[in-house]
Amino acid sequence: MKRIYLSPPHMCGEEMKFIQQAFDTNWIAPLGANVDAFETELAPIAGRKFGAALSAGTHAIHLSLKLLNVGAGDFVFCSSLTFSGSCNAIVYEKAIPVFIDSDESWNMSPYALKKAFKHFAERKTLPKAVIIVDLYGQSADYDALLAICAEYNVPVIEDAAEALGANYKGKPCGSFGELAILSFNGNKIITTSGGGMLLSNNEEQIQKAKFWATQARDSAPYYQHSEIGYNYRLSNISAGIGRGQLLCLKERVAQKKAIFNNYCKGFSDINAIKMMYSPQHCDSTYWLSVMTVCEKSSVKPSDIIDKLGKMNIEARHIWKPMHLQPVFKDAMFFSSFDGKTKESFAESFFNNGVCLPSATTMTSSEQQLIIDAVKDMFYV
Ligand SMILES: *Cc1c(COP(=O)(O)O)cnc(C)c1O
Repeated sequence: MKRIYLSPPHMCGEEMKFIQQAFDTNWIAPLGANVDAFETELAPIAGRKFGAALSAGTHAIHLSLKLLNVGAGDFVFCSSLTFSGSCNAIVYEKAIPVFIDSDESWNMSPYALKKAFKHFAERKTLPKAVIIVDLYGQSADYDALLAICAEYNVPVIEDAAEALGANYKGKPCGSFGELAILSFNGNKIITTSGGGMLLSNNEEQIQKAKFWATQARDSAPYYQHSEIGYNYRLSNISAGIGRGQLLCLKERVAQKKAIFNNYCKGFSDINAIKMMYSPQHCDSTYWLSVMTVCEKSSVKPSDIIDKLGKMNIEARHIWKPMHLQPVFKDAMFFSSFDGKTKESFAESFFNNGVCLPSATTMTSSEQQLIIDAVKDMFYV
């Protein structure tokens, strides 16, 4: 049997047309018409006026931190339950990450965020920025989270890498906070074979990001630099893939949602399995279908992942929380729980969670095979 991947690229069929245009005009590089069009086509889908197409979502986080003047010794709050791409750039700038727990929704806990702000305010300091992640395609609770950040006047970066096409109370993900980022890595809801975008309603911010992303070249008749730059722009070929992919975005989100609903239906009679909780007002992309196994169950996430692995099917553990990563072992962490307990929602999701195969290229009989294989483990 051919391998079923977790979330592989799924081409739309229109990508080659845009790539061909690039070849026909010899705009292989630098930048070009596909890059400009990809930015203008995508930004409004995410509820923004402007976008800068970049070579990775991680680079978009990096430039958004720079736009908010994050530098050496500054604190930046970030969701703990996420991929390291959300927070690595904090360290690129020699700033200090502080990790915030999730709540039942898997996303950042307003309660833990409030606790972190109080802790810092009492010490007469505040973070320079807060990075809020929309996990597995589901929007965070922005009404609550943005209100807390506004109270302390600290800007927010929305990490919508997994959430292009999602909504929160009818507003698109990517539209929250001062800046937002997207990723077009190969496993995301749409891909450019690798890439990302920085989003803002402020044209100056986007111009500045593009300046940094093209080696910070001053306007001079020769190469002159007054600042350190980066080589972070997306290629015109990759942007062509992205333009083709955008034509299928709605369809992909619908397919991901159908996959999630099939799992819900399939596992509805297994009490030990709970699919990721999605609050009413969140219209998720269901980028990955995620479940937890009851803590008391003798079946563990690693058993499920191993069994599917032997069937040549890829399932994975939940993101290991950042505050549990060896590289961030010294970072501060604010839990949703009070007292000295080490307990946290992030850790419990990690211990009990499984990312199920969520490939839109998967057939319904392949998904049924997965559902049956998992259910089998719970009937003794
Ligand atoms: C994928 C991802 C990123 C990083 O994107 P890259 O394009 O791979 O650099 C950042 N944050 C989250 C939550 C992601 O899932």
